[in-house]
Amino acid sequence: MTTAAEVLARCAELDRYSAHPTHLERVYLSPQHAAANAAVADWMEKAGLRTWQDAAGNQLGRREGREPGLPALLIGSHLDTVPDAGSYDGMLGVVMAVAVVERLGDRIADLPFAVEVVGFSDEEGTRFGTALMGSRAAAGTWDEDWWELRDKSGTTLYSAFRDFGLDPRRVGEAARRPEELVGYLEAHIEQGPYLEAADASLGHVTTIAGARRFKLSVVGEARHAGGTPYPRRRDALVGAAEAITTIERLARASDCIATVGRIEVMPGAVNVIPGRADFSLDLRAESDQERDAMWEAMSAEIERACASRRLELRVVETHRAPSMRCAPWLTDAVVQGIRATGDADPMGLWSRAGHDGMAIGAVTDIAMLFVRCFDGISHHPAEAVREVDVAAGLDALEHAVLAIAKGMA
Ligand SMILES: [Zn+2]
Repeated sequence: MTTAAEVLARCAELDRYSAHPTHLERVYLSPQHAAANAAVADWMEKAGLRTWQDAAGNQLGRREGREPGLPALLIGSHLDTVPDAGSYDGMLGVVMAVAVVERLGDRIADLPFAVEVVGFSDEEGTRFGTALMGSRAAAGTWDEDWWELRDKSGTTLYSAFRDFGLDPRRVGEAARRPEELVGYLEAHIEQGPYLEAADASLGHVTTIAGARRFKLSVVGEARHAGGTPYPRRRDALVGAAEAITTIERLARASDCIATVGRIEVMPGAVNVIPGRADFSLDLRAESDQERDAMWEAMSAEIERACASRRLELRVVETHRAPSMRCAPWLTDAVVQGIRATGDADPMGLWSRAGHDGMAIGAVTDIAMLFVRCFDGISHHPAEAVREVDVAAGLDALEHAVLAIAKGMA
């Protein structure tokens, strides 16, 4: 039986399927994607699953329940990575799912559902800039406009599909119907410090936050840096600086999280007062209502501050995703699973990061189990999880699957 130590070893083994010898990067429809799928399929078969790769490059395995053809409980995560990634974001959830199926063994034949394990092919969006393509295909929300997306080398998604041996015209075959699925369960490293701070191995997820992103432009007037006295200056960068500290102050005083990740100043000369500053804002919260109320408060205050400096504020919303709520009945099973590990009062937390559940949640109920990670570090080679936490996670997932079956009986 696959132990927690072996789960960690398998995650490390997948590191070898990387585009670079010295650091991990595995992107959608690459040779490394194919190799990782093959390795995972091999583990799946050893765990008694029948395997296939779907029409969007997702790796799947299935074991039938008490009769063939029952709707499936889908358990998994993703196998693609960011550039210079750690070994666990995504992979841990896939490898744990395989291990849990192996632990359940012949007991699956008594369950009122089939069990499927999935390794989604594209969650991070590293290659084509659009995230969640694997799970969007499985959810039947594939976007036909994506075919013309290009990677850094100019290869379109359409050609990458063909190079990988997939037929773009058949991508719709990856879509699952709601009646084929019982729900989707994902284990994932927390990618934050809250479980560690609470000294907890595991947590359950309440919602997956949906971000709103904006491009804000503060427009003033570019003039001579020496010759223009303060009362006559309309310095766009000072206005933007004030806006950025306002964003941080308001977000800090709330449960929202806001980030300004880039700024561009025009004309960008040492001896010219900035005439314009463009900056980004990424805003997340547990619920869309909280997030939207925070944006209203931020934009009103920034607008007032700009007006008092005779600056113009322009706002373009560049991205908006709704948050995805984990289903209470499925989360209840995860909570029972965590309790079975000896944690009497499992911690619930909202996911600040996006996950495949946001996409697959369009066709089935979802729930997530978070596993503590070292120092909240993720999207970085220093990503680390403890064996004892993975062991607890395997116990929790196994109990959760049995709790789901009990609830359906
Ligand atoms: Zn992930």
